[in-house]
Amino acid sequence: MINRIERIPLTKEGYNKELNAIYAIAANNGYKRDLVEEIRREHKNKKPNKEENNNKNWAVLTYTGKSTYKLAKLFQKHNLRTSFRTNNNVGRILRNTTNQEDPLDKQGVYKLTCKCQHSYIGQTGRKIKTRFREHIRDYNKKTQKPSAIPESNFANHMFNNKCSPTQIRKAAKLLHVQHKGQRLNVLENMEIYKLKTFDGKIINEQTNTASDVIFEPLKLIYEKKKNDNKTTGMDTPNTPKSTTRAKITDFYLPAGKNHTATT
Ligand SMILES: [Zn+2]
Repeated sequence: MINRIERIPLTKEGYNKELNAIYAIAANNGYKRDLVEEIRREHKNKKPNKEENNNKNWAVLTYTGKSTYKLAKLFQKHNLRTSFRTNNNVGRILRNTTNQEDPLDKQGVYKLTCKCQHSYIGQTGRKIKTRFREHIRDYNKKTQKPSAIPESNFANHMFNNKCSPTQIRKAAKLLHVQHKGQRLNVLENMEIYKLKTFDGKIINEQTNTASDVIFEPLKLIYEKKKNDNKTTGMDTPNTPKSTTRAKITDFYLPAGKNHTATT
């Protein structure tokens, strides 16, 4: 403990506080204050040696097994002091599970925002990066041969509006991680609905889709967020029950024409 308080830079007040704590701990363990003082004196006499050590160079070695010790011995022969570190630090573990994964390497629902600020919602069962490259390839084909009909609505939009492609990092954003299936279709339709209703600058060619009815409550939630007290209920606006039911059935049918371009 003495060693520690001598080494850590402390204010005089802080130092005395720490020292008093050490006195108290020593007393509790049956040691007299004199003994603590003696250790302090000894420590102070040692100090010059320590500084000498500080002039030596340090080598920090990542521990990988016995060979690391051999290496350390070799370093010590050459007057290098060694210390070890491991690869298993908390930072690395956290990084592995979060930051190191690229969202554009995932599959699911994505949003592409054009230079003109209009956006396109798409879905893919492959990496978003891969799908993005296809959109760009379609655009390039169209510029080379204007009579070509691109599969990609995004490519078509860029060509028709003279918007050139931007970097993937600027354009593409992962919205939902999801494997292929009905859930992915629902999420995609929900994002299209949201974009259409709250932003309006939408590239997708879909007009009103059957699924819109299902997402009507979203509108209320968002409006509620905006106006706080103005909106009261979250009920769906007056929609006859029978049509609602029919539309839900439509919605769960396999992906239609609008989806084929986005796979
Ligand atoms: Zn555009």
